[in-house]
Amino acid sequence: MTTTPMTTTTEEKAEPMIRFRDVSKRYGALTVLDGLNLDIARNEKVALIGPSGSGKSTLLRTLMLLDDIDGGVIEIDGRPLTHMASRDGKLVPADERYKREGRRGIGMVFQSFNLFPHMTALENVAEAPSSVLDLSRKEARERGTELLEMVGLGDKLEHYPSQLSGGQQQRVAIARALAMRPQIMLFDEVTSALDPELCGEVLSVIRRLGDEHDLTMLMVTHQMGFAKEFADRICFFSEGRILEQGSPEQVFGAPQQERTQSFLRAVM
Ligand code: ADP
Ligand code: MG
Repeated sequence: MTTTPMTTTTEEKAEPMIRFRDVSKRYGALTVLDGLNLDIARNEKVALIGPSGSGKSTLLRTLMLLDDIDGGVIEIDGRPLTHMASRDGKLVPADERYKREGRRGIGMVFQSFNLFPHMTALENVAEAPSSVLDLSRKEARERGTELLEMVGLGDKLEHYPSQLSGGQQQRVAIARALAMRPQIMLFDEVTSALDPELCGEVLSVIRRLGDEHDLTMLMVTHQMGFAKEFADRICFFSEGRILEQGSPEQVFGAPQQERTQSFLRAVM
């Protein structure tokens, strides 16, 4: 059940930037997203928490159009992302070309850094914008340099991934996602593969991004301390649904559901 307060009819409610409407996703007999509804406002920072296997990564992957959904629709700014109009005006699942367009406004950073090992930090960041956006190589490199400076790696432009620490590699991955000028950034357990002492540098980059840029952010994290600090809203996942959501104060301070309480007892 949602714990978000209802808005009154007189109040002008901004259209959500991202809207999951009754979204289902199955793998064979396993239902991973179970009629999920979620609205996210422009510039909102949302942390997704919950047990392993509850569908958090799947939610991010469906929004990134890496996994097709089996029911419902995902919309961005009121337009279907997962579906497109066919010739007779019916909504049909998006084809690859439509998905490629839709994916452009969204950046994603994964647990594993997925950098190209044979490219320098700068080449990793500049590659996609020069081939996908209409940027010249020179412009892409300038922009890449700026972004690497922003994540504190201005002195590591010519380093290869193998010459960088895990935390530095993950910051390159963040810069690379930003190079495509996304409006939405998705983070899936981006510090899980890092030694604890390297998590802080990655989290502080993410926090700064959130503070200084107009980005709508969704983050899956097991670090409740960071979720509390970073997020406007916490969504607790259980079995493919959002069982409980609210401000960090509400969800961490006074969780309503038994399952949320036992999850938080185990992780905090
Ligand atoms: P979370 O990120 O919350 O740990 P996931 O979204 O990764 O959970 O996974 C939800 C469920 O879907 C799990 O039971 C997982 O095993 C299953 N699952 C995820 N991806 C696949 C896949 N490609 N094929 C089959 N099952 C999958
Ligand atoms: Mg996951």
